This record gives sequence, structure tokens and C-alpha cells, in this order.
Amino acid sequence: MTPSATVDDHAGLIERLVAPVIQALGAEPVAVLDALGRVSAADVHSDVDLPLFRNSQMDGFAVRAADVVSTPIALEVTGDIPAGHATPVTLIAGTALRIMTGAPMPTGADAVVPVEDTELVLGRDDALDGAIVTISRSRKAGEYVRERGSDLRRGDLLLAAGTRLAPRHLAALAAAGIADVDVRRRLRVGVITTGAELVAHDEELAAGRIFDANRVALTTGIAEAGAVVSVAESSDDDPDTFRRILDDVVGASDLVITSGGVSKGAFEVVREVLEPLGASVGSIAMQPGGPQGTAVVDGVPVVCFPGNPVSTQVSFAVFLAPLLRRISGLPAECTGTRTLVSPIVSVHGKRQFLRGITGVDGTVALASGPSSHLVAAMARADVLIDIPLETTHLEVGETVTVWYL
Ligand code: AMP
Ligand code: MG
Repeated sequence: MTPSATVDDHAGLIERLVAPVIQALGAEPVAVLDALGRVSAADVHSDVDLPLFRNSQMDGFAVRAADVVSTPIALEVTGDIPAGHATPVTLIAGTALRIMTGAPMPTGADAVVPVEDTELVLGRDDALDGAIVTISRSRKAGEYVRERGSDLRRGDLLLAAGTRLAPRHLAALAAAGIADVDVRRRLRVGVITTGAELVAHDEELAAGRIFDANRVALTTGIAEAGAVVSVAESSDDDPDTFRRILDDVVGASDLVITSGGVSKGAFEVVREVLEPLGASVGSIAMQPGGPQGTAVVDGVPVVCFPGNPVSTQVSFAVFLAPLLRRISGLPAECTGTRTLVSPIVSVHGKRQFLRGITGVDGTVALASGPSSHLVAAMARADVLIDIPLETTHLEVGETVTVWYL
């Protein structure tokens, strides 16, 4: 990587590294109830017609349309057809059958008169036996009848490959009696944070140590982008320790993200271990997030972010979140435009991603200064303000591109 590499160059590099992994992901069957948010791996064709059988769209009376042409008309009611009724029923011409929504249409009937357009006088002892229904409104053949296959025919496409499965898709599969669906395997992403100073956020702090914010940022970010965290580890700055952890994490993952240890100081463990393995570690024209690296270890792409918490989060938002979201079938487009309400000063030759807070009327204000340790200010922000490479000043009222966090 040359020092002049741009954000787009680096994003392209990562994309090319990850592409073969995506190709090889493959599919797995999952139960429909477990498939929410997964991406269908193949077209699914229906084995059945939908509706499964001809049925009533209304609570009312199944009739022959020809018998109710002139209304009002009184018809003898010869029986009841509730939903779930199993035995086939035949309508006698000139009579009606009381029918419920979803109940199978009787043979011989071609319309349903909704109950609202009828008046029923029950027979002796308030029984349906001997009941008469007076129909006040005529209906044409087919009215309030749901024909078998009118929604979808057997063999038709029920679900297209590449669909991110929402409740409506799963409901359609269920309606067709499908119990399992083939989905794309989710990308397993491993995380290694590095730094001798790190203590897990739920452990005891000691002198000179800090809580590991990046492990939480990356693992939750991976999940939010629809991938799965295979394993998340933390390494000190000892090369042997890092190498051992790296091998374990690579073995369990399709993609690995590291944080820290890629700058130009001493004890830069990620750089020290990965460069001899052919990694490209360098600086790109971006702030925060200048130091970046990539490697392939045992065929697994390793993407190396700098350790400052804001740098890690911005790097993830810019370089991996859109890619992971695309793999997961989530909308990858996460940018928009806003009107500045704070003036901005930026470094020439660096693409800056400043933290912003959006307001009403399409505005955005600066949430903090540009320093990459301001993790609390990052939490107050809801966008990154994307300042182009060559821009040094922006005035209030100018339009900027923002990345929604
Ligand atoms: P490095 O990139 O390793 O040089 O780290 C740069 C800065 O980020 C240092 O101040 C580190 O202490 C801090 N840092 C590195 N990793 C983490 C982490 N996982 N969580 C919070 N801060 C970190
Ligand atoms: Mg470090």
C-alpha cells in the first residue's frame, strides 16, 4: 500500500480480498422459524396451489348466483359449512348453505352472499334445520369466492433466491407447507483486539490499563451487519501470543478483523507478525483511520484497523459494514446529504470522517473535534460527515455527505 492510497483504493482492496470468500460461502437449510433475516440461497417453487382449495371469502351464504338474480329472495338453508370442514358438500339448486370465511365452497355453489346482506329465520328450536334466509342483494358468479390457485399456482416461484427473509416471506413459505428453507451461510467473522493495556470491559481495571472498547464495537457491529462473530479474542503486544491467537481465530473464521498494532511505533504487534506473512500495512489518506493493513493468512482475509476506538469504528463503518450488509442482503447504501450548521476546518490531502449530529430540517452539526480517542463523543454522533480529500474549509449552509451510523 502506498501512503497516497485513498479510501476508495483501500475499500476496493478489501472487497477483492473478501470476494472469493463470499463465492465459497455456500448454503445451509434452516427451519422457517429460524430463517428471519437470512438470505434465501435458491429459488423456491411451490408444491401446492394457493389458496389450497376453493373457499369462501366471507361469512355468509353459499348460493348459485343464478338463484339470487332478483332480490329479495328467500332460500331454504340446508346446512352449515364451518372453516376446517372436511367432508365435501353439494349445494342443491334453489337453496343456500351457511358458510364461514375460509370454509371449502360446496360443489354447485358459485357465489357467497355476505351475512350483512341476509336475514336468517331459524327453524324450530332455533335450529338451522328448516331455516330460511332472505337475501337482499344479488351477487354475480365468483363474488366472494377464492378460487384454488388464484394467488399462486403449483410450480410457480414462491420465493426468489437472494431475498432477505422477512416475516411476509416466511408466512408465504408456511402457507405452502414448507418447513425448511436453504439460506446462504452467514459469514463468520473473527475479532482480535491487541494491546498490552487492554482489559475486558467486564473485568477488573489495573494501573495503566484501559477497557477494551473495540472488541465490543466490532462484535456488535458484525452482528448488526448480519454476519456472525466466530470468536473474539484479545492479545497483548507479544508476537508469539498474537500469532497463536491469530492461528486459532483464522481457523474458525471466514474473515478476521484486528484492531491496534499497525501504526509506526514500537510494539506494533499486528504489523510485526503479519508483514513477514506478506501483509500490506501502511497509511491511507484518511482521518481518523490512517494506519490500515490487509493480509491473507491460510486463505483467510485479515483486515487490520488502527486501535484508537474512533478509528476502529470509522474504519469498520467505511470499509466493512457496507460489504457485510450487502452479503447479508441488507441495504448497503448508508449515505445521504445534510446542510452544515457548524463551520468545518479539514486537513488538505486527507478524507476526513468527522462525527456529526443530525438535526431537524436536514441539518448536521459537529459532535466533537477530530481526535480519534473521543469515544464518548462518537456515541453522541449519529452520522459521519465525509469531507473530501482536497477540502480544507466548509462554511455554514454548505451541503455535505453523511454516513448514517
Ligand atoms: P494502537 O493502534 O495499538 O497504537 O492504539 C492506539 C490507541 O488506541 C492507544 O491509545 C490504545 O490504547 C488505544 N486502543 C487500542 N486498542 C484499543 C481497544 N481495543 N479499546 C480501546 N482503546 C484501544
Ligand atoms: Mg497498541
